[in-house]
Amino acid sequence: MKYLVLFSGGLDSTYLVYNLLKEGHEVELLYIEILNNKNKSIIEKAQRKLLIKQFKSEFPGKVKYSSAGIKIEVTGYNDNYESAQPHLWTTAAALCYSNDVDRVAIGYVMNDSSLSYLPEIKRLFNAHGALLRKDMPKMPKIEFPLIKYHKEELIEMLPDKYLNLTFYCEEPHIIKEESTKLTYKICDNCPPCKTAKGLNRGYHKAIKKQLNKKTGKITVIGNLEVDDQDLMPCKQMADTLDEETPISFPLEEETFEEIEMDQSDDKEITLEEEKVSE
Ligand SMILES: [Zn+2]
Repeated sequence: MKYLVLFSGGLDSTYLVYNLLKEGHEVELLYIEILNNKNKSIIEKAQRKLLIKQFKSEFPGKVKYSSAGIKIEVTGYNDNYESAQPHLWTTAAALCYSNDVDRVAIGYVMNDSSLSYLPEIKRLFNAHGALLRKDMPKMPKIEFPLIKYHKEELIEMLPDKYLNLTFYCEEPHIIKEESTKLTYKICDNCPPCKTAKGLNRGYHKAIKKQLNKKTGKITVIGNLEVDDQDLMPCKQMADTLDEETPISFPLEEETFEEIEMDQSDDKEITLEEEKVSE
């Protein structure tokens, strides 16, 4: 079967891709670049590139369209954009799968706070798909294959060559950025950093392996330039979004005013209806 996977280069999505490939499936890998978290995106893209190289050498011919992505700006609610995430993931997924994809997979695990709204994510995906992909005879199903696992289990099951390339910090500090070498520090204080420290069987060890103990720096080495080859044939994406005009979530203030006006119209309608019913 052919899967579209939302792949960030974090532990969960890396294990998800690894496991699908191991089961013999083909994968298309989609990346959503959050423009207003620049440092994180720079490191994610570099780590992701090295991971994909590793996947391609272990599973030749099974990884398709690996460098496609959507760039998007997420603003509002004091930078808490968690509530916008399900919309982003589902819209991007619906926009980007190619016509022969059978399933879409997202790597939520048992410890995730988002677990309680997976049914809503499914509904959002189906709604967005119906709107955005009228060209598709049949929509792919959306799946969450990792919800039966804890992060600790993924650490145990993912081979070191992949684990050592995963990345999690939300607020990393970049020290030096070159096309073949990237040096950064993790913040050690954001929620994923804290989770990593709390995991008793060594996720943090994966990062520690990359860490220079004297300087506290992590250096990623390899060809890190993101190439445009192998891009997903995403006609819908090109028509709908372009890099010059990033989409903002949530709605701008003016839009809220418009909504209020609409509501006052509703009231009038209600009043008229009441008159009629009398
Ligand atoms: Zn951090």
